[in-house]
Amino acid sequence: MAELEGLEFGKSDFVLLDEVTMEQFMENLKLRFEKGRIYTYIGEVVVSVNPYREMEIYGKDAIDAYRGRELYENPPHLYAVSDAAYKAMKRRAKDTCIVISGESGAGKTEASKYIMQYIAAITNPGQRAEVESVKNVLLKSNCVLEAFGNAKTNRNDNSSRFGKYMDINFNFNGDPTGGHINNYLLEKSRVVQQQEGERNFHSFYQLLRGGCEETLESLHLENDAALYTYTREGAATAVSSSDDRKLWDATSNNDRTSHKAVMSALEVIGFSKEEITSIYQILAAILLLGNVEFGSEGESVQILGQDTVNHISELTATDPDSVAKGLLFRTVATGGGEVIEKGHTEKDACFGRDAFAKALYERLFGWIVSRINSIIEVKNYNPVLHGKNTVIGVLDIYGFEIFDNNSFEQFCINYCNEKLQQLFIELILQQEQEEYQREGITWQHIDYFNNQIIVDLVEQQHKGILSILDEACLTVGKVTDTVCLDSMDTKLAQHPHYTSRKLSPTDKTMDFKKHFRIRHYAGDVTYSVEGFLDKNKDLLFQDFKRLMYNSSNPVLKEMWPDGQLSITEVTKRPLTAATLFKNSIVALVDKLACKEPYYVRCIKPNEMKSPVLFDDARCQHQVAYLGLLENVMVRRAGFAYRQQYPRFLQRYKMTCEYTWPNHLMATDREAVEAIITQHGFQGDVAYGQTKLFVRTPRTLFTLEQERNTL
Ligand code: ATP
Ligand code: MG
Repeated sequence: MAELEGLEFGKSDFVLLDEVTMEQFMENLKLRFEKGRIYTYIGEVVVSVNPYREMEIYGKDAIDAYRGRELYENPPHLYAVSDAAYKAMKRRAKDTCIVISGESGAGKTEASKYIMQYIAAITNPGQRAEVESVKNVLLKSNCVLEAFGNAKTNRNDNSSRFGKYMDINFNFNGDPTGGHINNYLLEKSRVVQQQEGERNFHSFYQLLRGGCEETLESLHLENDAALYTYTREGAATAVSSSDDRKLWDATSNNDRTSHKAVMSALEVIGFSKEEITSIYQILAAILLLGNVEFGSEGESVQILGQDTVNHISELTATDPDSVAKGLLFRTVATGGGEVIEKGHTEKDACFGRDAFAKALYERLFGWIVSRINSIIEVKNYNPVLHGKNTVIGVLDIYGFEIFDNNSFEQFCINYCNEKLQQLFIELILQQEQEEYQREGITWQHIDYFNNQIIVDLVEQQHKGILSILDEACLTVGKVTDTVCLDSMDTKLAQHPHYTSRKLSPTDKTMDFKKHFRIRHYAGDVTYSVEGFLDKNKDLLFQDFKRLMYNSSNPVLKEMWPDGQLSITEVTKRPLTAATLFKNSIVALVDKLACKEPYYVRCIKPNEMKSPVLFDDARCQHQVAYLGLLENVMVRRAGFAYRQQYPRFLQRYKMTCEYTWPNHLMATDREAVEAIITQHGFQGDVAYGQTKLFVRTPRTLFTLEQERNTL
């Protein structure tokens, strides 16, 4: 068993701080980071600081040390909460979930992988082949999702550009029988444009650098990312300094090796040869689409470079004339029911091309996820025969984002974080209250900021920002972003968490026509309304959908079922991007709310990816907006730990003369009372119906230490 830590490593649970102040909290967090202790508890919540270096704490020995143990029996670790979630699932047949939050680069995805590895390692001791295969697919799916959903950003070389929630199903033995992945809001704008120093999704570079000559030739590609508009932007400009060069080389090598790993992962998961070929054909078609340029002569717009169009049509198994037509014209139904073809302006053609490329990628990503799901979904499960099918969910989703320029994407992501914070409040308080009630224990209530008011600001029917946005998108005629902002200003003028330059004229940090600001629970964010309407409408000309539906490649066709509608049949407007996102987040919250939650709160120690730098101000800011201090207070006000009497007795009976080796009392509860009294811990505990409640972990640590020294 791993040794409990000494005091020189700081306090392993923030609940043990002498006083709950920001100073003490930060001091402890920093000390532990410097001593290489990256995990610290707040009760059952794990606070994790990204070490930016390899840690020797994830090996087989560690897994063995944590398997089946209680939280406080070992130093804090992700494995301990994973085990707690697993035990709750197995012993009490509870569905559980592990919610991982934190900003970009804080270590969420790495944490989610360690959690899954742990669960994979402790299950299926009998090595049953079908369970091994499910585990394998679950683990391999990470590699594929990262290739297609992650990208190098200025904050993180391997940044997830989508949210991921993965359910793992277990049978009555506690072995994985399947799973399901939900993905949220892929940042598809990245397909056509990246900020300086950033890259497109890894998958493109992996193909270009790792694909063999023969493959690339068949895809009409060359192995140079600089040749393609969509992969040339951003990253190419970052190769100036020698440091960047190193990083660039490292990522290039990575791309090369990753391509092989992704190909093999796709095969192991169960994608067919044809499906894998289709995936790469779509990637190639997107790259080539980016190189399509338009020129105009007088009124008429033309495509420059018929070859590229021919290649796209070959890769998508469509007719070249239809591809060209889709890029240059759109079919519209007139009021009289007539169908006409309307030529694009050069600007419209570029807009249409980029929208098409983004949609191709988004649908490809969605299709890959649903294909994985169809392979790992639990089949032939009969609850009568097999017992209750239980679930552990793991959520790795984008954290709160405040950039220099915040747009529609940040608005959606921050709204999602408001919803998750709301859930955190409900679950933590609600669960505590219920348990105390059940066990007949009184406790002191702690108030903290309830962010429901901000959730309402965004999602309230008719009056909320989403409704105002959707209304603007549905209005026929020229409604601009500015008009939409005016409407928000009018309707939200009184809201305490909303402001804009018009409402606060003296605030020069905002522009009259562009900005509004939301006071989020995690801080103020100023959004630029520019592009909100376009991004919310997420317009894709129906012609492209039909083109793809008519592809003779069945994989591609499957991704575009809505292409079967002819132009006169398309009457209903599709739901807007923000509404679709809201619906998916509401469904996610419902899913989480009915599970027993475990939390991992990730902190990014610095902006330099340095293993030695602890940037006090940056860390303190994260601690504040993650609400960690309030979390400690709530934990201290109540009882942090609880344990069934028999289990407590079993573990600590050797520390007390009246209980060792066996007690003679009437009940286990009385025996536990004897242990507590002998150690003088009466002030720190309460006795429930079935459980002992312990206020601070100090009591348990002392008992643990005594147990170890006996
Ligand atoms: P994003 O929101 O951008 O997806 P994230 O929170 O998922 O960010 P990760 O990708 O998990 O961040 O971590 C960023 C990098 O930090 C990793 O690529 C790795 O180099 C390092 N890192 C994170 N956690 C650990 C860890 N436990 N041990 C070693 N390195 C780590
Ligand atoms: Mg990530």
